[in-house]
Amino acid sequence: MQIDPTDSRRPERDLPSGTMACMEIVVIAGGVGGARFLAGLVTAAPGVTITAVVNTGDDVTLHGLRICPDLDTVMYTLGDGIDPGRGWGRRGETWTVKDELAAYGAEPTWFGLGDRDLATHLVRTRMLVAGYPLSQVTTALGERWQPGVTLLPMSDQRVETHVVVTDPQTGRQQAIHFQEWWIKHRAALDPAAFVQVGVEDARPAPGVVEAFATADAVVLAPSNPVVSVGTVLGVPGMREALLSTPGRVVGLSPIVGGSVVRGMADRCLPALGIEISAEGVGRHYGARSDGGLLDAWLVHESDTADVPGVDVRAVPLLMSDPAATQAMARAALDAAGV
Ligand code: GDP
Ligand code: CA
Repeated sequence: MQIDPTDSRRPERDLPSGTMACMEIVVIAGGVGGARFLAGLVTAAPGVTITAVVNTGDDVTLHGLRICPDLDTVMYTLGDGIDPGRGWGRRGETWTVKDELAAYGAEPTWFGLGDRDLATHLVRTRMLVAGYPLSQVTTALGERWQPGVTLLPMSDQRVETHVVVTDPQTGRQQAIHFQEWWIKHRAALDPAAFVQVGVEDARPAPGVVEAFATADAVVLAPSNPVVSVGTVLGVPGMREALLSTPGRVVGLSPIVGGSVVRGMADRCLPALGIEISAEGVGRHYGARSDGGLLDAWLVHESDTADVPGVDVRAVPLLMSDPAATQAMARAALDAAGV
C-alpha cells in the first residue's frame, strides 16, 4: 500500500476471508510475552482467525515520534523482523541516530531507538498527524510485515501508563511515564500505584468488541498482568466486551516457580497486592463464574494453584523454543475446548 498522508482516503481494515466459516480466537497481549505466545498460536492453529488486542499503555512520544513498543514487538515478532536475542526491536539494528541524538545532548538518551525501527515510528507519526487513527495505522504497517493475525491496538485513544514513585532526591511522590520507570530506572523505584492517564476518554478500538462477540475462545497471554493485560482490561467497556464472548476464557500464567521467566513484571504485582505466584495471578483474574474473567487457568507443570471456580491445568509453560511455545498454545486451545 502507498502511504500518502495527503491522500484523504483511509485504508480499509483487512477483513479475514471466510470469517463466518472459520474459528476465531482473540488474544489479549503485551509485548515480548504476548508476541512469543502469539507466534506459537499461529503455528498451533493454522487456518484459525486470530485477533490480537495489544496493550498501548506503554506508548510514548520521544523526539517527536509516536512509539508503540508492544504493538511493534508483536508486529516484528510475527513478521520475522524481531531481534530474537533482545526480544524487541529489529534484527540487524544499528544505532547511528541514537548516537547522533546523544551527541546533541537530546534527552532522553536512555530509550533504545534503532535506525531501522525509526522508519516504523516515522511512518506511524506521519499517518497519525495526517489524522489516521492508530488502528488504521497499525493495519497499514502490518501490510509490510504480514503478521498473520489481525493486530488491533486496545484503543485508538491515547492512554499512557504512569507510575507513582517517591523521588529519591526530593522525597516527594510523583508520577512518571511507565517507560521512564521501566527503562531509565530499571523498575528500581518502588511503585505505589499505576495510573492509566487518559483512560476515562478511551474506548476499545474498532473491531475489538466485535471480535470478542464472535470469538470461539479468548486467551489472556502470559503477559504482565498489571501493565499489559491489566491496562487493556482497564479500557472502559473492554471487560464487558470480553465477558460477552460465547467462547471460554483461558489465561496462561506469566509466573513460573514463583518468579517471572524474564523481565521485571514482579516489580508490578505488589502494587496491586498480587502475590508473585501462578495462584496469586490466577486469583487476581478470578473465576468468570464469580465476577472474574477466567474459565481456565494454565500454570507451569511444576506449579500448583487453587483458583476457586476455575479449571486449573498444569502444563509446560516455558517458551524456550518454537515447538515448546506451539505446545503451550495447543494446551490453551484444549483448555478452551476448541
Ligand atoms: P512486555 O510488554 O515486553 O513486558 O511483555 P508482556 O507483558 O507481553 O510479557 C512479559 C511477561 O512475559 C513477563 O511477565 C514474563 O513473566 C512472561 N514471560 C516471558 N517469557 C515467558 C515464558 O517463557 N513462559 C511464561 N509462562 N511466561 C513468560
Ligand atoms: Ca510492554
